[in-house]
Amino acid sequence: MTLKTNLIATVAALSLAGSITGALSAQDFSKVEIKAEALRGNISVLYGAGGNIGVSAGDDGVFIVDDQFAPLTDKIKAALAGISDKPLRFVLNTHFHGDHTGGNENLGKGGAVIMAHDNVRQRLSKGAFLKAFDMKMDPAKMAALPVVTFNDKISLHMNGEEARVIHVKNAHTDGDSIIFFKGSNVIHMGDTFFNDRLPFMDVSNGGSIDGVIAAAKAVLELANDETIVIPGHGKVTDKAGVQAYLVALEASRKIVAAMKAEGKSLEDIQASGALADVNANWRANPEGWVKKYIGFVYNSLK
Ligand SMILES: [Zn+2]
Repeated sequence: MTLKTNLIATVAALSLAGSITGALSAQDFSKVEIKAEALRGNISVLYGAGGNIGVSAGDDGVFIVDDQFAPLTDKIKAALAGISDKPLRFVLNTHFHGDHTGGNENLGKGGAVIMAHDNVRQRLSKGAFLKAFDMKMDPAKMAALPVVTFNDKISLHMNGEEARVIHVKNAHTDGDSIIFFKGSNVIHMGDTFFNDRLPFMDVSNGGSIDGVIAAAKAVLELANDETIVIPGHGKVTDKAGVQAYLVALEASRKIVAAMKAEGKSLEDIQASGALADVNANWRANPEGWVKKYIGFVYNSLK
């Protein structure tokens, strides 16, 4: 098993099984099913293994947000064919992690234009190290790299609506985008939002608690009560779902920041059970995850 495959398998196992222990076991992609769910207007979501895929399908063709893992490309293409007979024209990566970009090479070779924030191309081309999981990601092949990059915002005008792509700084990583399908009123948040547990901030690649809080606030500014929100992981939700997430983020930040200011070490805070209440109100955090999360907050506090 190569390091890259190892990373991919690990991230997949983390997302799927929600477990940290046992995450190093390889995943059998042959058992993964890609399930499509129509949301509203042009927009659908594909659930499989790895990051949720947003789909815009209409007269102009197909545009997807994230592409999971390379071994799933054929299944993803089959799921897309069930939604539209038009070609896949654009792929937007919300960030560089392998469970969101693994299909890039296949889809890029197939003729889709891959787009992402500048830092996504940088990190994919150089390779990266994810300190939180002690994992190395090898440099990606040329065909897997985004062809169109941007530093702030970019819009796609297709299928009768504007898809506004907005970079949010230093959140899950330093290259995150959120995508607002304005006409359909659907927002894809990438991994700035985990709707099943406290989030992963990849601090070694520019992520931070304050950036994730700012991303959630930016989405709440864009959203109204009708907005459908696609998280990077977990089920589709709405504005109220993002509000609940923001409450958990802010509460946990406040607790960890206060203890850090008192001079407590990371280990002390992790051992204290200080986030028990926040955690109780949240959902399926896997065992050991809250300690990891405290580390992300502690290490990224300014
Ligand atoms: Zn990620």
